[in-house]
Amino acid sequence: MKIDPTTVPLLGPPTATAAQALAYARARGAQRPQEVAAFIAELWRLGTAAGYDPAVVFAQFCDETGVGGSAAWVSRLNPGGLGVTDAGDQGIGFRTGTDAARAMLTHLSTYVRGYDPAFWRYIDLDARYLEPLKRGWGASVRALADLGGGKWATNPRYAAQIADHLAAIRVIAPEGAAASAPTGSGGATRPAEPPPGLIWFGTGNFHPRPEGQRPEAIVFHVTDDLSFSNVRTHFQNPGSRASAHFVVDRDGAIGQFVATIHAAWTNGDIANPRPDLPWLVGAVARCHDPALRPTARGNLNDFCVTIESVGKPGQPFPAAQVERVAALTRYLLARYPTILPRRGRLLRHSDINAVSRGYCPGPSFPLRDIILAVGGDPNDLS
Ligand SMILES: [Zn+2]
Repeated sequence: MKIDPTTVPLLGPPTATAAQALAYARARGAQRPQEVAAFIAELWRLGTAAGYDPAVVFAQFCDETGVGGSAAWVSRLNPGGLGVTDAGDQGIGFRTGTDAARAMLTHLSTYVRGYDPAFWRYIDLDARYLEPLKRGWGASVRALADLGGGKWATNPRYAAQIADHLAAIRVIAPEGAAASAPTGSGGATRPAEPPPGLIWFGTGNFHPRPEGQRPEAIVFHVTDDLSFSNVRTHFQNPGSRASAHFVVDRDGAIGQFVATIHAAWTNGDIANPRPDLPWLVGAVARCHDPALRPTARGNLNDFCVTIESVGKPGQPFPAAQVERVAALTRYLLARYPTILPRRGRLLRHSDINAVSRGYCPGPSFPLRDIILAVGGDPNDLS
């Protein structure tokens, strides 16, 4: 998929995870892997804290260094042509990947915000900090496309090349390299690959699962809104305190907002749960265990992966959408053998909250067909 660089803002929440960046760097054979990992970790830490999308900055690194293969990166950890001008290479380098990330973000900040207090403590790392400001380019860059035209680079294809890296990074399985699950016979392994075309959007609305906790159930929802874009805006708004791992659109397009190793904020609401699903009864009891740390209490999200289908309760769901929900479910079952393929583990939101979410995902949502399609038992409530 192509991304138009005029539509990619430099400021905003991360549009890919650090794990995706790392997987991309590994897949492309980046050199100095420990420093690449440190560079990525600091981009995501400092960039996210200061409001810069680290995925865009990492994509810029990929273009500048040939994904960590250039002489400037390998010999002196220069991540983005810092100090390299048409007049020649001034030989600027860094001791660590962490410093390289700080310098790159600091230099970028002059273009985006002029003097950005978030980076004042790192100014010494950037030998050419004043250059963009002297040229009148302070706070002149909003979108990725604005970095071309002689500002960061003169190459007219500069922004488009970065956008190509960004598109590839966003669609890498967020969990990193594909996991393997044993098959029934012969000891061969079967990779658990996400459905093709899955697009990563990302949000800050999630929390880490408790130490060692794997997902044990999938909960299905309906968005009650026919616009994927509205749902995306809602999930990416920190004020909504809401998210889901996956949203499947009416045409079958799948967007991911939270990595499945983390807990999304979709069904933390327990109200009159179904009493005849033993796993659910046990999970609710675990939520109320006073031995749990307070943040884990009363929160079923810790145990679940959540899939939203764009639609209205009671209205039919298109076949293309249902097929993709099934494909996603099949992937999750292969990736997490802790999720058992039966009705007792493949839940409706209304199983958890019959009071205010009795409509979710509603009678027209073909959960029975989906369970059959993934080879599970729709009658097994255990
Ligand atoms: Zn719901």
